[in-house]
Amino acid sequence: MTFLSETLAAVKPSPTVAVTQLARELKAKGRDIISLGAGEPDFDTPDNIKAAAIAAINAGKTKYTAPDGIPELKDAICAKFHRENGLTYTPAQISVSTGGKQVLYNALMATLNPGDEVIIPAPFWVSYPDIVRLGQGTPVIVEGERQLGFKITPEALEAAITPQTKWLIFNSPSNPTGAGYTRDELKALTDVLMRHPHVWIMSDDMYEHLAYDGFQFVTPAQVEPELYDRTLTVNGVSKAYAMTGWRIGYAGGPEHLIAAMRKIQGQSTTNPSSISQWAAVEALTGPQDFLGTRCEAFRERRDLVVEGLNGCPGITCAVPEGAFYVYPSVADCMGKVSKGGTSITTDEEFCTALLEEEGVAVVFGAAFGLSPYFRVSYAESEAVLKEACLRIKRFCEGLK
Ligand code: PLP
Repeated sequence: MTFLSETLAAVKPSPTVAVTQLARELKAKGRDIISLGAGEPDFDTPDNIKAAAIAAINAGKTKYTAPDGIPELKDAICAKFHRENGLTYTPAQISVSTGGKQVLYNALMATLNPGDEVIIPAPFWVSYPDIVRLGQGTPVIVEGERQLGFKITPEALEAAITPQTKWLIFNSPSNPTGAGYTRDELKALTDVLMRHPHVWIMSDDMYEHLAYDGFQFVTPAQVEPELYDRTLTVNGVSKAYAMTGWRIGYAGGPEHLIAAMRKIQGQSTTNPSSISQWAAVEALTGPQDFLGTRCEAFRERRDLVVEGLNGCPGITCAVPEGAFYVYPSVADCMGKVSKGGTSITTDEEFCTALLEEEGVAVVFGAAFGLSPYFRVSYAESEAVLKEACLRIKRFCEGLK
Protein backbone atom coordinates (compact mmCIF):
# COMPACT_ATOMS: atom_id res chain seq x y z
CA MET A 1 0.00 0.00 0.00
CA THR A 2 1.44 3.40 -0.93
CA PHE A 3 1.33 6.19 1.65
CA LEU A 4 0.57 8.97 -0.83
CA SER A 5 -2.65 8.81 -2.78
CA GLU A 6 -2.50 7.38 -6.29
CA THR A 7 -4.53 10.33 -7.56
CA LEU A 8 -1.87 12.74 -6.33
CA ALA A 9 0.80 10.96 -8.36
CA ALA A 10 -0.89 12.24 -11.54
CA VAL A 11 -0.80 15.84 -10.35
CA LYS A 12 2.09 18.25 -11.04
CA PRO A 13 3.05 21.13 -8.76
CA SER A 14 2.22 24.53 -10.30
CA PRO A 15 5.07 25.56 -12.67
CA THR A 16 4.22 29.26 -12.28
CA VAL A 17 4.63 29.00 -8.50
CA ALA A 18 7.90 27.07 -9.05
CA VAL A 19 9.36 29.74 -11.39
CA THR A 20 8.37 32.53 -9.00
CA GLN A 21 9.93 30.65 -6.08
CA LEU A 22 13.18 30.03 -8.02
CA ALA A 23 13.35 33.75 -8.90
CA ARG A 24 12.87 34.60 -5.19
CA GLU A 25 15.66 32.23 -4.17
CA LEU A 26 18.07 33.63 -6.77
CA LYS A 27 17.23 37.17 -5.59
CA ALA A 28 17.88 36.15 -1.99
CA LYS A 29 21.33 34.92 -3.11
CA GLY A 30 22.05 38.41 -4.41
CA ARG A 31 21.36 37.84 -8.14
CA ASP A 32 19.79 40.71 -10.07
CA ILE A 33 16.52 39.05 -11.12
CA ILE A 34 13.48 40.45 -12.90
CA SER A 35 10.51 38.22 -12.16
CA LEU A 36 7.77 38.26 -14.77
CA GLY A 37 6.48 34.85 -13.73
CA ALA A 38 3.66 35.56 -11.28
CA GLY A 39 0.07 36.31 -12.28
CA GLU A 40 -0.38 39.10 -9.81
CA PRO A 41 -1.07 42.85 -10.22
CA ASP A 42 1.76 44.96 -8.79
CA PHE A 43 -0.77 47.62 -7.67
CA ASP A 44 -1.77 47.81 -4.02
CA THR A 45 -5.27 46.93 -2.74
CA PRO A 46 -7.25 50.22 -2.74
CA ASP A 47 -7.41 52.05 0.61
CA ASN A 48 -11.22 51.92 0.94
CA ILE A 49 -11.05 48.12 0.73
CA LYS A 50 -8.29 47.91 3.35
CA ALA A 51 -10.30 50.26 5.60
CA ALA A 52 -13.36 48.00 5.32
CA ALA A 53 -11.26 45.04 6.46
CA ILE A 54 -9.85 46.99 9.42
CA ALA A 55 -13.37 48.13 10.35
CA ALA A 56 -14.53 44.48 10.21
CA ILE A 57 -11.74 43.46 12.59
CA ASN A 58 -12.58 46.31 14.98
CA ALA A 59 -16.27 45.40 14.88
CA GLY A 60 -15.46 41.83 15.89
CA LYS A 61 -16.50 40.32 12.55
CA THR A 62 -13.78 37.75 13.09
CA LYS A 63 -15.76 34.55 13.61
CA TYR A 64 -16.81 31.63 11.41
CA THR A 65 -19.31 32.65 8.78
CA ALA A 66 -21.91 30.82 6.69
CA PRO A 67 -19.90 28.22 4.71
CA ASP A 68 -20.26 29.77 1.28
CA GLY A 69 -20.43 33.45 2.13
CA ILE A 70 -22.00 36.13 4.32
CA PRO A 71 -25.40 37.40 3.08
CA GLU A 72 -24.01 40.92 2.55
CA LEU A 73 -21.37 39.61 0.14
CA LYS A 74 -23.82 37.35 -1.67
CA ASP A 75 -26.10 40.38 -2.17
CA ALA A 76 -23.15 42.40 -3.50
CA ILE A 77 -22.26 39.58 -5.91
CA CYS A 78 -25.86 39.27 -7.16
CA ALA A 79 -25.84 43.04 -7.78
CA LYS A 80 -22.48 42.79 -9.60
CA PHE A 81 -23.69 40.00 -11.91
CA HIS A 82 -26.81 42.01 -12.69
CA ARG A 83 -25.00 45.32 -13.18
CA GLU A 84 -22.03 44.11 -15.21
CA ASN A 85 -23.15 40.91 -16.92
CA GLY A 86 -26.94 41.19 -17.19
CA LEU A 87 -27.26 37.94 -15.21
CA THR A 88 -29.87 37.38 -12.52
CA TYR A 89 -28.85 35.16 -9.61
CA THR A 90 -30.43 34.82 -6.17
CA PRO A 91 -28.20 34.53 -3.04
CA ALA A 92 -28.93 30.76 -2.96
CA GLN A 93 -27.24 30.55 -6.37
CA ILE A 94 -24.00 32.15 -5.15
CA SER A 95 -20.93 30.46 -3.71
CA VAL A 96 -18.01 32.37 -2.15
CA SER A 97 -14.70 30.55 -1.65
CA THR A 98 -11.07 30.99 -0.74
CA GLY A 99 -10.06 32.41 -4.12
CA GLY A 100 -11.35 31.65 -7.58
CA LYS A 101 -9.18 28.56 -7.45
CA GLN A 102 -11.25 27.01 -4.67
CA VAL A 103 -14.47 27.84 -6.52
CA LEU A 104 -13.22 25.86 -9.54
CA TYR A 105 -11.89 23.12 -7.28
CA ASN A 106 -15.18 22.78 -5.37
CA ALA A 107 -17.20 22.66 -8.59
CA LEU A 108 -15.01 19.98 -10.16
CA MET A 109 -14.82 17.89 -6.97
CA ALA A 110 -18.58 18.15 -6.60
CA THR A 111 -19.33 16.89 -10.10
CA LEU A 112 -16.56 14.65 -11.47
CA ASN A 113 -16.67 10.86 -11.47
CA PRO A 114 -13.87 8.64 -12.79
CA GLY A 115 -13.95 8.71 -16.59
CA ASP A 116 -15.70 12.07 -16.88
CA GLU A 117 -14.04 14.29 -19.47
CA VAL A 118 -13.39 18.01 -19.14
CA ILE A 119 -12.59 19.99 -22.28
CA ILE A 120 -9.81 22.52 -21.70
CA PRO A 121 -8.74 24.88 -24.50
CA ALA A 122 -4.93 25.19 -24.75
CA PRO A 123 -2.93 27.11 -23.89
CA PHE A 124 -4.62 26.91 -20.48
CA TRP A 125 -4.21 28.18 -16.94
CA VAL A 126 -1.88 25.59 -15.41
CA SER A 127 -4.25 24.50 -12.65
CA TYR A 128 -7.20 23.34 -14.77
CA PRO A 129 -5.88 19.93 -15.88
CA ASP A 130 -4.42 19.13 -12.48
CA ILE A 131 -7.60 19.97 -10.58
CA VAL A 132 -9.50 17.77 -13.05
CA ARG A 133 -7.02 14.93 -12.38
CA LEU A 134 -7.41 15.42 -8.62
CA GLY A 135 -11.12 14.89 -9.17
CA GLN A 136 -10.30 11.69 -11.11
CA GLY A 137 -11.58 13.22 -14.31
CA THR A 138 -9.81 13.23 -17.67
CA PRO A 139 -8.63 16.52 -19.18
CA VAL A 140 -9.32 16.70 -22.93
CA ILE A 141 -7.09 19.37 -24.41
CA VAL A 142 -8.26 21.32 -27.47
CA GLU A 143 -5.55 23.46 -29.03
CA GLY A 144 -6.34 27.06 -29.89
CA GLU A 145 -5.44 28.39 -33.32
CA ARG A 146 -2.34 30.59 -33.30
CA GLN A 147 -3.69 32.70 -36.20
CA LEU A 148 -6.94 33.24 -34.23
CA GLY A 149 -5.01 34.58 -31.24
CA PHE A 150 -5.00 31.09 -29.65
CA LYS A 151 -8.81 30.83 -29.56
CA ILE A 152 -10.53 27.52 -30.30
CA THR A 153 -12.89 27.06 -33.23
CA PRO A 154 -16.46 25.71 -32.96
CA GLU A 155 -15.37 22.76 -35.16
CA ALA A 156 -12.58 21.82 -32.73
CA LEU A 157 -15.00 22.05 -29.79
CA GLU A 158 -17.58 19.91 -31.59
CA ALA A 159 -14.94 17.28 -32.39
CA ALA A 160 -13.81 17.06 -28.74
CA ILE A 161 -17.28 16.39 -27.28
CA THR A 162 -18.07 12.77 -26.40
CA PRO A 163 -20.83 11.16 -24.30
CA GLN A 164 -18.35 11.37 -21.36
CA THR A 165 -17.87 15.15 -21.60
CA LYS A 166 -19.06 16.82 -18.42
CA TRP A 167 -17.62 20.33 -18.64
CA LEU A 168 -16.03 22.83 -20.98
CA ILE A 169 -13.75 25.18 -19.05
CA PHE A 170 -13.86 28.55 -20.79
CA ASN A 171 -11.49 31.41 -19.88
CA SER A 172 -11.65 34.82 -21.56
CA PRO A 173 -9.60 36.99 -21.39
CA SER A 174 -7.19 34.13 -21.05
CA ASN A 175 -4.31 33.28 -18.81
CA PRO A 176 -1.71 32.76 -20.39
CA THR A 177 -2.42 34.40 -23.78
CA GLY A 178 -4.59 37.42 -22.91
CA ALA A 179 -6.92 36.37 -25.75
CA GLY A 180 -10.51 37.51 -25.42
CA TYR A 181 -13.47 36.01 -27.31
CA THR A 182 -15.82 38.49 -29.00
CA ARG A 183 -19.58 38.03 -28.65
CA ASP A 184 -19.73 36.40 -32.11
CA GLU A 185 -16.83 34.06 -31.39
CA LEU A 186 -18.39 33.01 -28.10
CA LYS A 187 -21.85 32.62 -29.66
CA ALA A 188 -20.35 30.19 -32.19
CA LEU A 189 -19.12 28.08 -29.25
CA THR A 190 -22.38 28.30 -27.29
CA ASP A 191 -24.23 27.21 -30.46
CA VAL A 192 -22.17 24.01 -30.36
CA LEU A 193 -23.01 23.49 -26.69
CA MET A 194 -26.71 23.97 -27.42
CA ARG A 195 -26.51 20.77 -29.49
CA HIS A 196 -25.03 18.82 -26.54
CA PRO A 197 -27.31 19.20 -23.51
CA HIS A 198 -25.15 16.97 -21.29
CA VAL A 199 -22.18 19.38 -21.41
CA TRP A 200 -21.86 22.07 -18.72
CA ILE A 201 -19.83 25.23 -19.04
CA MET A 202 -17.51 26.61 -16.38
CA SER A 203 -16.72 30.17 -17.34
CA ASP A 204 -13.65 31.57 -15.61
CA ASP A 205 -14.15 35.33 -15.90
CA MET A 206 -11.29 36.29 -13.58
CA TYR A 207 -9.83 38.83 -16.05
CA GLU A 208 -13.16 40.45 -16.97
CA HIS A 209 -12.04 43.94 -15.98
CA LEU A 210 -8.71 43.76 -17.79
CA ALA A 211 -9.75 44.33 -21.41
CA TYR A 212 -8.22 46.88 -23.79
CA ASP A 213 -8.86 48.94 -26.91
CA GLY A 214 -12.63 48.88 -26.35
CA PHE A 215 -12.85 45.07 -26.22
CA GLN A 216 -16.32 44.16 -24.90
CA PHE A 217 -16.18 41.36 -22.34
CA VAL A 218 -19.02 38.83 -22.54
CA THR A 219 -19.76 35.67 -20.57
CA PRO A 220 -21.52 32.52 -21.90
CA ALA A 221 -24.78 32.70 -19.89
CA GLN A 222 -25.21 36.27 -21.12
CA VAL A 223 -24.55 35.41 -24.77
CA GLU A 224 -26.77 32.30 -24.73
CA PRO A 225 -29.39 32.59 -21.95
CA GLU A 226 -30.55 29.03 -22.69
CA LEU A 227 -27.25 27.79 -21.23
CA TYR A 228 -27.96 29.53 -17.89
CA ASP A 229 -29.10 26.28 -16.26
CA ARG A 230 -25.84 24.51 -17.04
CA THR A 231 -23.36 27.32 -16.57
CA LEU A 232 -21.20 28.16 -13.59
CA THR A 233 -20.07 31.78 -13.91
CA VAL A 234 -16.84 32.14 -11.92
CA ASN A 235 -15.18 35.40 -10.94
CA GLY A 236 -13.24 36.93 -8.06
CA VAL A 237 -11.64 40.02 -6.62
CA SER A 238 -8.00 38.87 -6.92
CA LYS A 239 -7.02 40.39 -10.25
CA ALA A 240 -9.39 43.34 -10.80
CA TYR A 241 -9.12 44.71 -7.26
CA ALA A 242 -5.47 43.72 -6.64
CA MET A 243 -6.54 41.39 -3.81
CA THR A 244 -4.65 38.16 -4.58
CA GLY A 245 -3.65 37.61 -0.96
CA TRP A 246 -7.15 38.15 0.44
CA ARG A 247 -8.35 34.94 -1.23
CA ILE A 248 -11.92 35.64 -2.27
CA GLY A 249 -13.50 34.15 -5.39
CA TYR A 250 -17.15 33.52 -6.18
CA ALA A 251 -19.55 31.94 -8.64
CA GLY A 252 -23.16 32.02 -9.72
CA GLY A 253 -24.90 28.89 -10.92
CA PRO A 254 -27.79 26.47 -10.47
CA GLU A 255 -28.83 26.00 -6.84
CA HIS A 256 -28.20 22.23 -6.77
CA LEU A 257 -24.62 22.69 -7.94
CA ILE A 258 -24.02 25.53 -5.47
CA ALA A 259 -25.38 23.29 -2.66
CA ALA A 260 -23.00 20.48 -3.67
CA MET A 261 -20.08 22.92 -3.68
CA ARG A 262 -21.14 24.13 -0.21
CA LYS A 263 -20.89 20.56 1.07
CA ILE A 264 -17.25 20.32 -0.08
CA GLN A 265 -16.36 23.69 1.38
CA GLY A 266 -18.03 22.82 4.68
CA GLN A 267 -15.79 19.76 4.94
CA SER A 268 -12.58 21.49 3.83
CA THR A 269 -11.97 25.18 4.57
CA THR A 270 -15.34 25.73 6.39
CA ASN A 271 -15.66 29.29 5.06
CA PRO A 272 -13.53 31.96 3.39
CA SER A 273 -11.90 34.47 5.77
CA SER A 274 -14.56 36.64 7.43
CA ILE A 275 -12.36 39.75 7.19
CA SER A 276 -11.62 39.22 3.48
CA GLN A 277 -15.34 38.77 2.82
CA TRP A 278 -16.08 42.20 4.31
CA ALA A 279 -13.26 43.66 2.23
CA ALA A 280 -14.81 42.05 -0.87
CA VAL A 281 -18.20 43.65 -0.04
CA GLU A 282 -16.46 47.03 -0.20
CA ALA A 283 -14.60 46.08 -3.41
CA LEU A 284 -17.85 45.21 -5.20
CA THR A 285 -20.04 47.99 -3.79
CA GLY A 286 -17.49 50.83 -3.37
CA PRO A 287 -16.06 53.17 -6.02
CA GLN A 288 -15.22 51.40 -9.28
CA ASP A 289 -13.57 54.29 -11.15
CA PHE A 290 -9.99 53.18 -10.39
CA LEU A 291 -10.60 50.04 -12.49
CA GLY A 292 -10.49 52.14 -15.68
CA THR A 293 -7.32 53.97 -14.60
CA ARG A 294 -5.50 50.74 -13.80
CA CYS A 295 -6.72 49.16 -17.00
CA GLU A 296 -5.21 52.02 -19.00
CA ALA A 297 -1.89 51.54 -17.18
CA PHE A 298 -1.94 47.84 -18.09
CA ARG A 299 -2.72 48.66 -21.72
CA GLU A 300 0.32 50.93 -21.92
CA ARG A 301 2.47 48.18 -20.44
CA ARG A 302 1.07 45.63 -22.88
CA ASP A 303 1.97 47.87 -25.81
CA LEU A 304 5.47 48.43 -24.42
CA VAL A 305 6.10 44.71 -23.94
CA VAL A 306 4.65 43.63 -27.30
CA GLU A 307 6.82 46.20 -29.08
CA GLY A 308 9.91 45.27 -27.05
CA LEU A 309 9.47 41.54 -27.69
CA ASN A 310 8.81 41.96 -31.40
CA GLY A 311 12.16 43.79 -31.53
CA CYS A 312 13.96 40.62 -30.34
CA PRO A 313 15.37 38.39 -33.09
CA GLY A 314 13.55 35.05 -33.14
CA ILE A 315 10.51 36.23 -31.13
CA THR A 316 7.07 37.07 -32.49
CA CYS A 317 4.37 38.38 -30.18
CA ALA A 318 0.67 38.89 -30.91
CA VAL A 319 -1.32 41.78 -29.37
CA PRO A 320 -3.88 40.27 -26.99
CA GLU A 321 -7.24 41.75 -25.98
CA GLY A 322 -6.88 41.52 -22.21
CA ALA A 323 -5.47 40.14 -18.93
CA PHE A 324 -1.85 41.09 -18.12
CA TYR A 325 -0.05 38.44 -20.12
CA VAL A 326 1.50 38.05 -23.54
CA TYR A 327 2.45 34.73 -25.07
CA PRO A 328 5.27 35.18 -27.58
CA SER A 329 6.50 32.46 -29.92
CA VAL A 330 10.13 31.35 -29.79
CA ALA A 331 9.81 28.93 -32.72
CA ASP A 332 12.61 30.74 -34.55
CA CYS A 333 14.98 30.33 -31.58
CA MET A 334 14.76 26.55 -31.58
CA GLY A 335 17.91 24.69 -32.62
CA LYS A 336 20.20 27.57 -31.58
CA VAL A 337 22.84 27.78 -28.85
CA SER A 338 22.90 30.55 -26.24
CA LYS A 339 25.97 32.67 -25.41
CA GLY A 340 26.29 30.63 -22.21
CA GLY A 341 26.47 27.41 -24.26
CA THR A 342 22.94 26.00 -23.71
CA SER A 343 21.40 24.43 -26.77
CA ILE A 344 17.80 25.54 -27.09
CA THR A 345 15.49 22.81 -28.31
CA THR A 346 12.43 23.49 -26.12
CA ASP A 347 10.72 26.54 -24.63
CA GLU A 348 11.69 25.26 -21.18
CA GLU A 349 15.38 25.33 -22.17
CA PHE A 350 14.91 28.83 -23.60
CA CYS A 351 13.39 30.08 -20.32
CA THR A 352 15.96 28.35 -18.09
CA ALA A 353 18.87 29.80 -20.08
CA LEU A 354 17.21 33.25 -20.09
CA LEU A 355 16.96 33.12 -16.29
CA GLU A 356 20.52 31.88 -15.83
CA GLU A 357 22.18 34.19 -18.33
CA GLU A 358 20.11 37.37 -18.11
CA GLY A 359 18.20 37.01 -14.84
CA VAL A 360 14.70 37.28 -16.38
CA ALA A 361 12.11 34.82 -15.02
CA VAL A 362 9.25 33.93 -17.37
CA VAL A 363 7.20 30.72 -17.63
CA PHE A 364 7.76 28.24 -20.48
CA GLY A 365 4.89 27.45 -22.81
CA ALA A 366 4.84 23.67 -22.26
CA ALA A 367 3.48 24.40 -18.75
CA PHE A 368 0.39 25.89 -20.42
CA GLY A 369 0.02 23.11 -22.98
CA LEU A 370 1.28 24.87 -26.13
CA SER A 371 4.91 25.10 -27.30
CA PRO A 372 7.25 26.70 -28.24
CA TYR A 373 6.14 29.86 -26.44
CA PHE A 374 6.62 31.58 -23.11
CA ARG A 375 4.38 33.67 -20.91
CA VAL A 376 5.28 37.15 -19.77
CA SER A 377 3.27 38.68 -16.96
CA TYR A 378 3.52 42.44 -17.51
CA ALA A 379 2.07 43.42 -14.12
CA GLU A 380 5.27 45.35 -13.39
CA SER A 381 6.45 48.97 -13.66
CA GLU A 382 7.37 50.34 -17.10
CA ALA A 383 11.00 50.76 -16.01
CA VAL A 384 11.26 47.07 -15.04
CA LEU A 385 9.51 45.96 -18.23
CA LYS A 386 11.85 48.06 -20.40
CA GLU A 387 14.89 46.54 -18.69
CA ALA A 388 13.41 43.02 -19.09
CA CYS A 389 12.89 43.60 -22.82
CA LEU A 390 16.49 44.83 -23.20
CA ARG A 391 17.78 41.72 -21.46
CA ILE A 392 15.59 39.38 -23.55
CA LYS A 393 16.82 41.16 -26.70
CA ARG A 394 20.45 40.74 -25.61
CA PHE A 395 19.78 37.05 -24.93
CA CYS A 396 18.17 36.51 -28.34
CA GLU A 397 20.97 38.41 -30.11
CA GLY A 398 23.40 36.02 -28.47
CA LEU A 399 21.68 32.92 -29.91
CA LYS A 400 23.75 31.35 -32.68
N1 PLP B 1 -8.40 31.55 -13.00
C1 PLP B 1 -7.38 32.07 -13.70
C2 PLP B 1 -7.45 32.05 -15.19
C3 PLP B 1 -6.26 32.59 -13.04
O1 PLP B 1 -5.25 33.08 -13.75
C4 PLP B 1 -6.22 32.55 -11.63
C5 PLP B 1 -5.04 33.01 -10.89
O2 PLP B 1 -3.95 33.11 -11.39
C6 PLP B 1 -7.32 32.02 -10.95
C7 PLP B 1 -8.39 31.52 -11.66
C8 PLP B 1 -7.36 31.93 -9.45
O3 PLP B 1 -7.54 33.15 -8.85
P1 PLP B 1 -7.56 33.28 -7.27
O4 PLP B 1 -6.30 33.98 -6.90
O5 PLP B 1 -8.78 34.10 -6.98
O6 PLP B 1 -7.65 31.93 -6.68
